[in-house]
Amino acid sequence: MGVRRLKSKEGSEAQNAPKVDVSSIVKDVIDNIRANGDIAVRQYSQKFDSWSPADFKLSAKQIDDIMATVDPQIIQDIREVQHNVRAFAEKQKSSLHEFEFEIQPGVFLGQKNNPIEKVGCYIPGGRYPLLASAHMTILTAKVAGVKHVIGCTPPIAGKLPAATISAMHLAGADEIFILGGVQAIAAMSLGTETIAKVDFLAGPGNAFVADAKRQMFGQVGIDLFAGPTEVLILADEHADPYMCAVDLLSQCEHGPDTPAQLITNSEKVGRETLRCIDELLRVLPTAPIASVSWRDFGEVIITDTLDQAYEVADEYGSEHVQILTENPREALQKMTNYGAIFLGKNTCVSYGDKCIGTNHVLPTRKASRYTGGLWVGKFIRTQTYQEVRNSDASGKLGRLCGRAARAETFEAHARSGDLRAAELLGDKIGW
Ligand code: NAD
Repeated sequence: MGVRRLKSKEGSEAQNAPKVDVSSIVKDVIDNIRANGDIAVRQYSQKFDSWSPADFKLSAKQIDDIMATVDPQIIQDIREVQHNVRAFAEKQKSSLHEFEFEIQPGVFLGQKNNPIEKVGCYIPGGRYPLLASAHMTILTAKVAGVKHVIGCTPPIAGKLPAATISAMHLAGADEIFILGGVQAIAAMSLGTETIAKVDFLAGPGNAFVADAKRQMFGQVGIDLFAGPTEVLILADEHADPYMCAVDLLSQCEHGPDTPAQLITNSEKVGRETLRCIDELLRVLPTAPIASVSWRDFGEVIITDTLDQAYEVADEYGSEHVQILTENPREALQKMTNYGAIFLGKNTCVSYGDKCIGTNHVLPTRKASRYTGGLWVGKFIRTQTYQEVRNSDASGKLGRLCGRAARAETFEAHARSGDLRAAELLGDKIGW
């Protein structure tokens, strides 16, 4: 029978696209900040966030005072989560090797790993205080060895997000700015009178933030396209529909634009999940947001077999893939397109989002076809070096280089090789 849909997205992607022209709004903001620096940053902060403090940067005293207002349990939890994130990042760092080898006698090739010098981290916060993004970005950059890390996060409803600021500080941010959206991304990328230009931007955000990073790429490096969150659950007949429903809605509450799919080879699980979602949306405090996502971007897809379910799931390349099947590890063999995969009913996407230790800044919009999520390696430049210590080897490379460069009609390149072949092997120069 193939693939059937019990529930489809309300409209096509084009119909569901944001009504506003995100790219042109973002471009205007960037152009204005490029031309007018801090004045424009303040204008947009006022316009989009009703936020215009004397100084966007927090002083050390302000940070101390803010942290003193945070529930000690929250501070303790931040430390515990950061312990997990640090441990995973350090383990990943240990997988990055420097090496040098002798490709032929006297010819040495090697690679070195140098951390990026200045990084800007965006910690989203328009809707919720996403303090976990501080661990994921700032802390990971610090583990990588980045010297200077700037953190930007927006105010929430005109207030300082105290827990987020605490997490940013404990993660090791060198400077903290309360500044959100495109204005933060543009200011960090271009530099202003008060915000230093960075080399690289990291962090997730809404469609405006993601597009601003895309437009700034080239001016600065960026981690990946980490836009509005996505979730896909792959379930078999053993899955608990209520759990499927809760876990789908756990991502739908992020914002009104969360793609969420259940793919299952069990029609019973599919139908029951739909019923549980309706039930939950009647009581969930975040239902006003979650219900919009589920209505516009939610899908339940029924396949004949589990293998077919893996194939369909791989086509989606979703940011978060949760496996609720009898043998969840099978998915590691069968699937390759996902930002992160969560195996079995004892694991959930929310663990990855909030506390387990793996990074929650993950590729969206099918970017998982070409990249994984944020990790220490993104903050590190793997650079190569070479040295020829043997004259005979250099002369021979000179001859090879001369021929290879002339095949491409690069005469000056060729002469660099010829010169060495002449000096070291006595070749005649024919030019
Ligand atoms: P945010 O900080 O990303 O965006 C808030 C900012 O958007 C505001 O400060 C404002 O300046 C700007 N803004 C709002 N409306 C605007 C408009 N009309 N024009 C121009 N700028 C405008 O916070 P958010 O909105 O709560 O979104 C957080 C996002 O991060 C969610 O979509 C969530 O799914 C996503 N996220 C993604 C990942 C990932 O790894 N892919 C991880 C965590 C969160």
